[in-house]
Amino acid sequence: MTYEWKPSCPKCGSYNISIEQDRGFGWGNPEVYLHCGKCGKRVYGRENVDALLKDQRRAWEGDEELQAEIRRRKAEEARKKLEEARAERLQAEHLEKRRIEEEQRKAEEARKQEEAHQRWVAKQEAQARLKRERAKVEAEAAKLAVVEECAWVECSNPRRPNSIYCCRKCSNKNAHWRAKQRRLAEQEQARIAM
Ligand SMILES: [Zn+2]
Ligand SMILES: [Zn+2]
Repeated sequence: MTYEWKPSCPKCGSYNISIEQDRGFGWGNPEVYLHCGKCGKRVYGRENVDALLKDQRRAWEGDEELQAEIRRRKAEEARKKLEEARAERLQAEHLEKRRIEEEQRKAEEARKQEEAHQRWVAKQEAQARLKRERAKVEAEAAKLAVVEECAWVECSNPRRPNSIYCCRKCSNKNAHWRAKQRRLAEQEQARIAM
């Protein structure tokens, strides 16, 4: 179905027609004729061809049913075009929205990663600091842990500050012991001298 009138073959209705000129044997005016490329029908004479096409056109334009159908189809096509344009616009808007959402999501992800990295760095630093502090405390504790024993041989109590003994008793015991050792040594010397 065409929306514009087009000449057609009066026999078979084909649009495959042409207006040609029959030059005959070359005498006088060439005769014009309509030729159907499908069924081979010919209509001779300029007036006959014009009258035929005029009738066809009038019949086409006067066909109320046909014209109504054409109007209906044109309206339908216009409506479809509007709908398609609207769908395209909606699709474009949807894609743009998705693109923006995707961008925001990526930015948010990058921000979270950066935050996580910063937290990790801070944690590493805190752990290193803690380790250093702990090492310092341990070194100090180790220093303090070197507690020497009481100088009295039979005692293993820790010494008191500023003393080589744990108590007065051990100090005295050690003094007696040393005095006794001295006495024994003197006696031994005296014995050798005799
Ligand atoms: Zn034909
Ligand atoms: Zn002691």
